[in-house]
Amino acid sequence: MAIDSTGIVLEIQRMSTEDGPGIRTTVFMKGCPLKCVWCHNPESINPKPQVQWIGARCIGCKTCVQACPNGALTFDDGIHINRTVCKGCGRCTEVCPSTAMELLGKQWSADALVQELLKDSAYFGTSGGGVTISGGESTFQAHFVKKVLVELKHHGIHTAIDTCGICNQHTLDMLLPHVDLVLYDLKEMDPLKHQQFTGKSNYRVLNNIKYILSFMKEHLFPREVWIRTPLIPGKTARDENIVAIAHEINNLLSINPKVITRWDLCAFNNLCKDKYTRLGLEWELAHTPLLTKEELSHFEALAKQHCNNPAIVKTSGSTRIEDDEAPVTKPKKKLGC
Ligand code: SF4
Ligand code: SF4
Repeated sequence: MAIDSTGIVLEIQRMSTEDGPGIRTTVFMKGCPLKCVWCHNPESINPKPQVQWIGARCIGCKTCVQACPNGALTFDDGIHINRTVCKGCGRCTEVCPSTAMELLGKQWSADALVQELLKDSAYFGTSGGGVTISGGESTFQAHFVKKVLVELKHHGIHTAIDTCGICNQHTLDMLLPHVDLVLYDLKEMDPLKHQQFTGKSNYRVLNNIKYILSFMKEHLFPREVWIRTPLIPGKTARDENIVAIAHEINNLLSINPKVITRWDLCAFNNLCKDKYTRLGLEWELAHTPLLTKEELSHFEALAKQHCNNPAIVKTSGSTRIEDDEAPVTKPKKKLGC
């Protein structure tokens, strides 16, 4: 089988209402070129399969320790994974009697994945939904993703890619003809801060969104772009950043006025705290509080004030619990946005 006929998929999430119009099935691919400090899916950054240990499920039998062919596991107060020698083979997950060892990332053939996604066609048809390829980064395994998108379009399925904008233009040329909607992250306009928060400058991000809009003007496809901005307290959630992104969107609207149909301000959430722990990682934002409702409203008003098309501004995500108010929580969503 050709190497690009298979891809590593982290998760298939059904019934999503966050990643495009209608009811969608979102495919989270493994691999991302960025390391955003607020990343909500840290298990998606590494392109290879990884194992994680869920302590609450472990019965301490040590079967995994004996089964590991690479001596990567030890047990004292719990299982410790030596990630420098773990090869992600998944043997430990196969022998664990209590599902305490989990493999993150599974190899799929493009054909098998498409067949799996087509099981949800009835939902797509009735809701105006479809399939969104997310991650990680949707363009990271581009040849595989193209095969999946082409097949989905043959079956008349609405397709979306969710991208951080870090890829080359050849990759965009390859994918865009098979995509209805692009979910595009504009996280931070200051190049140095973008580098500091994500590990890379925003130079390519800003060039690629212009390229996508020019491509759309010429080919009339993809049909729509939704811009997504994560509102991270102490990081991207600053007045000057939101105003600068609004001005950038105004410039983009002047290239191709009708195709940017939505600008999502995605409020920070910290539901992913345990994921970092399971991967043996420290998370800088583990104790960062959510935005208050007032702060979220403030950024929404600011965005509407400075965007030439305020109707496209939307907000999503959780805000801080105050008094006896119930939290507004959303299901898994890449917080790239
Ligand atoms: S095999 Fe599973 S239950 Fe047994 S020690 Fe390993 S992780 Fe724990
Ligand atoms: S994935 Fe393979 S190499 Fe890694 S700990 Fe499990 S058995 Fe060992």
